[in-house]
Formats: sequence, C-alpha cells, structure tokens
Amino acid sequence: MDRIVTALAYDKKVRVFIALSTNTVNEAIRLHRLNLMSAMALGRLLTVTAIMSYMTQSESIAVQVSSEGPMKGVLAISDEKGKVKGYVTNNDYTTYGENITSLGQLLMPGKLMISRDFGLKEPYTGITRLITGEIAEDIARYYMDSEQTPTACALGTYFDDKGKLLSAGGYIIQVLPGTEDRILDEIEQRVSLTGNISKLIYDLETPENLLNFLFSDRNPEITGTHGIAFKCSCSKEKILDKLLTIDKEQLNEVAKQQSTIEAVCPYCNSHYHYHSKDILKIIE
Ligand SMILES: [Zn+2]
Repeated sequence: MDRIVTALAYDKKVRVFIALSTNTVNEAIRLHRLNLMSAMALGRLLTVTAIMSYMTQSESIAVQVSSEGPMKGVLAISDEKGKVKGYVTNNDYTTYGENITSLGQLLMPGKLMISRDFGLKEPYTGITRLITGEIAEDIARYYMDSEQTPTACALGTYFDDKGKLLSAGGYIIQVLPGTEDRILDEIEQRVSLTGNISKLIYDLETPENLLNFLFSDRNPEITGTHGIAFKCSCSKEKILDKLLTIDKEQLNEVAKQQSTIEAVCPYCNSHYHYHSKDILKIIE
C-alpha cells in the first residue's frame, strides 16, 4: 500500500520522510499514457509533492518545474492528505531523437517553483533555478537556498525491461537547526551508500525497511504513517466553470460550429462533453 512514513532519528535531531508511491505513479502512467521519461519525471514530482504536503502541513502544495527543454514542464499538486495529481506539459519528444537518457536533457534549463497554501490570502511561493533537472537534487537545493536547511532528497522510479513500473518512492531527510556537523557528515555518508534509490526501494519493499536500512542504530522513531494516492477532484461542473473562463467570442464560435464541446481535465485526463446549445445558453 502506498504511504509516507514520518520519523525522527538521532535523538529527535533529524526528521525523516519516506514514501512508497508505486500505485500512485502507476495510476498517473495509466491516466496520462506516459512514456518512460515522462513517467520518471511525473513520478518523482508526485512523490516529493506528497512528502512535502506532510512536511509543511499546508492545505495544498504545488511543485512546478517550468522548462525550456523538450518536456516543457511538470506539475504536481497535493492536498494535506496526500491526494496528488499532476501532468507533464509535453509527453511526446520523439523529434528530439533516441539519445535521451536523463531528465536533465528534457528539463534543463528550467526553474522550480513551490507554492504552499496555508489558507491565508496569498500562497507562499519560492522559486529557484534547476541545478540538474533530475528533481531530487533540485529539491534539496531549494531547501538549502530558501530555508537554509541542509536536506537530503532521493526520488526514484524502477522499471523492468519492458518499461513496466515495478516500484516508486523516495525520501527527504532534514536536520533540525543547531545539529552538530558530525551528524550532518554521517547522514551524507549513509545517503551516499544507498546507491540507486529506485532499486533499493524495490529490494527493501517498505518505507519502514528503508528507515531501518538508513538509521537502525540511530534511534529511529516512527511518528506517523499517512496515505498517498493519485486523485483528482474534477467534475463536469468544475471543468465547465474552467471552460467558461476562456474567451467568450472564441467559445461562441466553436459552439456554433459543432454540436458538442469536449473539455479535458489537465490533471487526470478525464474527457467531459457538453451540448453546444447549453453552452450558448449560458454565454449569450
Ligand atoms: Zn481531473
């Protein structure tokens, strides 16, 4: 079952968030018919966005990569209960050739934007430049730059030879202010020993096992287990509201040319159909 395990270690000086998100990412692949690289990008972003929703305890959080590269962008949004949704802007980059092997090639140069909504008037937004485009390093850098918090982040999606997703997940580890340098050094060393995080998550199977793998001798203490799932709350009515925000003249023209109008939810790719005569009645 997909979940995020939150924990403390090193006598409560270190916060650990570990996610297992295989079903969540598989659902995104199914709904959006993602190719391998898009599945990697959106999978990593959905996973980290769900983790960050529990880290920040915001009502909703949006993590967006905007890029001048072929993929153009990736967006994930989570509510406070780990319900995530998202999309990649361009899922077809066949014209860029077969030599694409890293997300950096598809997303660099670009920016990372994080908006957190705490239920206040304006959401809190931070922006940084992408460092590698592999997402985990970019998130770690974001925390260092914007919050001066040393952060380790790893995100992974593990596929078989046929491109089927076997596992997805990742972690964020943060030290509380004032933590001794030797603890920082030790965490860095342990994290570097984990190697390929995708494979490790597959082999260890659960977030609890990954926690023990990293910190079994450093007083790990699980503080919570939270659900995560791909879920969009769109409906025919909500998408109609969105549809009505586009230029009235343009909408009017389309409605007169065809008997039904189709609108697609960008987050979950649901297709909704409306009778043009009903649309005309509303806008006229
Ligand atoms: Zn939707």
